[in-house]
Amino acid sequence: MRKPPRSAVRRPFASLAVLDGALRARGARPTRQRRAIFSALSERLDHPTAEALYRGVRRRVPGLSLATVYTTLEVLVEAGLAGRFIGADGVAHYDARTDAHDHRRCLGCGRIDDLDRHGQNERIPMQPSADFQPMGYRIEVTGYCAGCLEAAGARREPGPTGPDPIHQGETR
Ligand SMILES: [Zn+2]
Ligand SMILES: [Zn+2]
Repeated sequence: MRKPPRSAVRRPFASLAVLDGALRARGARPTRQRRAIFSALSERLDHPTAEALYRGVRRRVPGLSLATVYTTLEVLVEAGLAGRFIGADGVAHYDARTDAHDHRRCLGCGRIDDLDRHGQNERIPMQPSADFQPMGYRIEVTGYCAGCLEAAGARREPGPTGPDPIHQGETR
């Protein structure tokens, strides 16, 4: 998997002191493993699943189990230090960024990035009506990342040898 590019947007994330307090408030000791999971999530911009985060952090943290990653992520979400959302892929993804924002998802490799809305939020109809009270919205733009487009282009170079990956798959 490609390393996620650094975003120009500075991600707000809590300090380790805030993390330790939140863990203690929930009866969880601030262990080195839990801190490492939090730090790893804070560094990532690709909204990993618990498994993906586990794969990334286990090299640094000997003896880490996937179960510890899951329980720590749950505490982080409960404490408001991380966001969790179910992507259109049906899988739970975790996000160190907790402010309201939208995402874009690559249909090729599945990576999810933050979406820059360029101030177009006013287009979302959020006015209450007689038959609906809007409470929020979620937007996930789907498409193909530069890496997948490049890979598809390279595969096509000698001539078409199979289905075109760019024009296959989901349409939503
Ligand atoms: Zn991709
Ligand atoms: Zn995000």
